[in-house]
Amino acid sequence: MATLTARYEASFPTSRRLYEQARTVFPNGVTHDLRSLEPFPIYVERALGSHKWDVDGHELIDYWSGHGAILLGHSHPAVVEAVRHQVGRSTHPGACHESEIEWGRWVQRLVPSAERLRFTNSGTEATLMALRLARIVSGRPRVLKFAGHFHGWNDFVVPGADPPYDGAPVPGVPRAVAAATVVVPPNDPAAVERVLETDPDIGCLILEPTGGHWGQVPIRGEFLKALREITSRLGVLLIFDEVITGFRVSPGGAQAHYGVMPDLTTLAKVLAGGLPGGCVAGRTDIMAALEVRPGKPKMRHPGTFNANPLSAAAGIATLQLVATGEPCRRANETARLLRHRLNALFADRGWDWVVYGEFSAVRLLPGYTGPRPLGDDFIPYGGAFDKLDAPRDLRLIHAFRRAMLLHGVDLPGLAGMTTAAHTEDDVERTVVAVAGTVEALRGEGIV
Ligand code: PMP
Repeated sequence: MATLTARYEASFPTSRRLYEQARTVFPNGVTHDLRSLEPFPIYVERALGSHKWDVDGHELIDYWSGHGAILLGHSHPAVVEAVRHQVGRSTHPGACHESEIEWGRWVQRLVPSAERLRFTNSGTEATLMALRLARIVSGRPRVLKFAGHFHGWNDFVVPGADPPYDGAPVPGVPRAVAAATVVVPPNDPAAVERVLETDPDIGCLILEPTGGHWGQVPIRGEFLKALREITSRLGVLLIFDEVITGFRVSPGGAQAHYGVMPDLTTLAKVLAGGLPGGCVAGRTDIMAALEVRPGKPKMRHPGTFNANPLSAAAGIATLQLVATGEPCRRANETARLLRHRLNALFADRGWDWVVYGEFSAVRLLPGYTGPRPLGDDFIPYGGAFDKLDAPRDLRLIHAFRRAMLLHGVDLPGLAGMTTAAHTEDDVERTVVAVAGTVEALRGEGIV
């Protein structure tokens, strides 16, 4: 029997050929670090609903969901029609346009803390803006963040974003800049309080409100409430990075789900309905630092593609449907079913794997030695940060991905996200794929 790698190479020859070309164009042959795959990644031609088709003609169940940007499913007719209509009218009027107001109003309507907002082009730009606004308004230069929380790739938020959390310098980030970012372990309110009480230079705290790496180390509502209380008492601005959770965990994001109001919120991904776009939303008095006011500092914010009309069209079409609550409900329910079915599979086979996650996230944990889940609110290892966010085993992750692709499923790693378009049939086929994959990995001694 050929090895998994040999079968992968034989099944995806056109992708291999394209990758050989790509390596002469892009460093590492890819345009996003996560898309790297040994010995080569797949190339996708088109996507519809919960499926996509690669250049070798395979139909794949997709759990990338556009890096989280796709909630309604790929090429949802309402989004396609809205973009098609707009593209012939103007892709860039070089002017204010009516649809930016409508897009912004949807954000105000859905996100509880969004009194005012400003559009950006990405989540990375949104967190960059939120931190600068916080510095202007608080007058304090430093930011507090949690180990394992990802906020894009701007210089101030990369420290402490990925394991190992040993404080080593980040290549290319000046030490003086990194020194403005204080990193503490997640889920420890006493540590937050201690640091904020002893460091008067910290003006804001930023976090992923369902936990680092979209819930890999889960955070629950009590911690968010504790953070709100501590930051309010100590006069520190609280920033929720809802780039993934926004419009996904619920129409109003994690803040609506947990009833905790941040001072600022960063949004992207679902916000722009699968096209590029982001925003910072929040308190009127903080967002006023973008306004021209006599005697007050102003944050400059140009940006050629801010509130791009195509993104606005896709965003409006998406948020209109998100407002019904149905897309979030469906995506969450399908992920819950998949978690349940996979845990039943692992228990049934006696494999040391477990699945966890919240909302539309599904996370597989191999080599799991703790108790089996009793319900869907299960968190492995009692949430222990060092166990859930250990350095990644890339050999295993790449072997898992290759095997899943051979079984017709594309996962970004040992985790994935559902959309409202995923079906029970997708779930059942994914369970069969995982069973075949784990068997194959065991057969080759990889797990
Ligand atoms: N914040 C979070 C929580 C994210 O997950 C991401 C992207 N995965 C970002 C910020 C950065 O967003 P973008 O990729 O649009 O720059």
